[in-house]
Amino acid sequence: MKIKNYINGSFQEHDSSEWLDNYDPSIGEVYGQIPNSNQKDVEKAYAFAKAAFPSWSNTTLDHRSRILLKIADLIEANLDRLATAESRDNGKPLWLAKAVDIPRASANFRFFAQAITQFSSEAHETIGTNTMNFTLREPIGVVGCISPWNLPLYLFTWKVAPAIAAGNCVVAKPSEVTPATAYLLGEILTEVGLPAGVLNIVHGEGARVGQAIVAHPNIKAISFTGGTATGAHIARTAAPMFKKLSLELGGKNPNIIFADCDYGKMLKESIRSSFANQGQICLCGSRIYVERSIYKQFKTHFVDIVSKNKVGNPMDADTKFGALVSKSHLEKVLSYVEHARDNEGYTILYGGNQLKVTGSENGYYMQPTIIEVTDNKCRLNQEEIFGPVVTLMPFDTEEEVVSLANDVQYGLASTVWTKDIDKAMRVSKKLEAGIVWINTFLNRDLRTPFGGMKASGVGREGGLEALRFFTEPKNVCIKYN
Ligand code: NDP
Repeated sequence: MKIKNYINGSFQEHDSSEWLDNYDPSIGEVYGQIPNSNQKDVEKAYAFAKAAFPSWSNTTLDHRSRILLKIADLIEANLDRLATAESRDNGKPLWLAKAVDIPRASANFRFFAQAITQFSSEAHETIGTNTMNFTLREPIGVVGCISPWNLPLYLFTWKVAPAIAAGNCVVAKPSEVTPATAYLLGEILTEVGLPAGVLNIVHGEGARVGQAIVAHPNIKAISFTGGTATGAHIARTAAPMFKKLSLELGGKNPNIIFADCDYGKMLKESIRSSFANQGQICLCGSRIYVERSIYKQFKTHFVDIVSKNKVGNPMDADTKFGALVSKSHLEKVLSYVEHARDNEGYTILYGGNQLKVTGSENGYYMQPTIIEVTDNKCRLNQEEIFGPVVTLMPFDTEEEVVSLANDVQYGLASTVWTKDIDKAMRVSKKLEAGIVWINTFLNRDLRTPFGGMKASGVGREGGLEALRFFTEPKNVCIKYN
């Protein structure tokens, strides 16, 4: 697969003659090339986006909505092709890409196609003074969208769909590690007749292409999802230019299990919240706190079930966990386990090792890993690992577990298991997290605000929040006689 930039409605050669290798993580081999684009490619994409803006921002909402719906339909119609490409590029099980990633990418377009027709603004009458204010919500212009590798098309479309629905034109960059489905999206955009220049996709390295988008003086807003360190760098670059920023960053999410929970349901969902997508979801619960009275029982059952899940080639139907996204990421995740074992003396209850999968020996596979820790300040409990590694720790009281849960720099998501609604409410209010799931995990209604607090980000995506982000409010104040 030789990937090309999608600029001004067609696939185009990039400026330099440099290419980057694209790896299939399930076999550890190069299977394609990606343009190593540069600042000139971003400038070219920007120029076409700017040219498309006056016309696109003046299309009727109905027109925009219909185009977005067609994109959603075509993503759905291409489910098998897109899911196969996603799975190959990322290492995630094919069934998961088919059940979650690609349907959600379609849902993103469908949701914002509908949301834009319901988007309204406020009016404020200053009673007794013959004054009326109303707020215009206008598209910003050319905006930048930068997405990570863990949920490639899912997160890419979560940004570009509201951006174009609101009337903006976009210069977007998917992760260089997983560019395939964003590339294929270009074909769909052409087929549905999205006007040229409205959505431009430039491939390449974060430090080059991403940086050029963030540093571009006329790209007025940046919607970014990725690591906290990258987010901080983006904030430093963009702040002096007063760009609008939406930063969805890392997490170190607690999974809090009280003894009075629905045990069977909790156990099943805790496997998913720990290891779905090989633990490479920003929302995964990587710190599991269990009330002491059921700690031993949970430990035995959890290890037993995890040990029976198959790690294997993503294309095999019975594979539960696939490959990690890259060799360097696998090495990073393994280094955390090594540190916990060798330097901190922690007990690895299960896993901890790289795996050789028969027939795919060079793939980046790792056992799901469960480590028992005693100190919440350890690296495993403080740093985002973003892989199939969870820690277990017992607790005694509600106050104690809330304080353990909040004792990290991150504040993205949390999961709480209890049948006691009073306790659930009390804990939800005290948790420092943008999202609290009670007796469920990754249960998403696209209308809800999505994002984190503390080092997990700034701003919220989702629903009308996203449309607000991608528009500039202007108050018009009228004094009448
Ligand atoms: P990175 O921060 O490394 O990269 C994210 C994106 O930013 C990629 O497209 C990357 O390009 C690009 N990028 C890298 N450097 C720059 C730069 N200087 N300027 C502009 N763009 C840049 O994150 P990962 O891709 O490794 O993704 C994993 C991280 O994403 C985890 O921390 C995870 O928690 C977080 N995440 C957060 C979510 C949330 O909603 N809060 C959801 C999903 C993931 P390239 O890949 O080419 O380097």
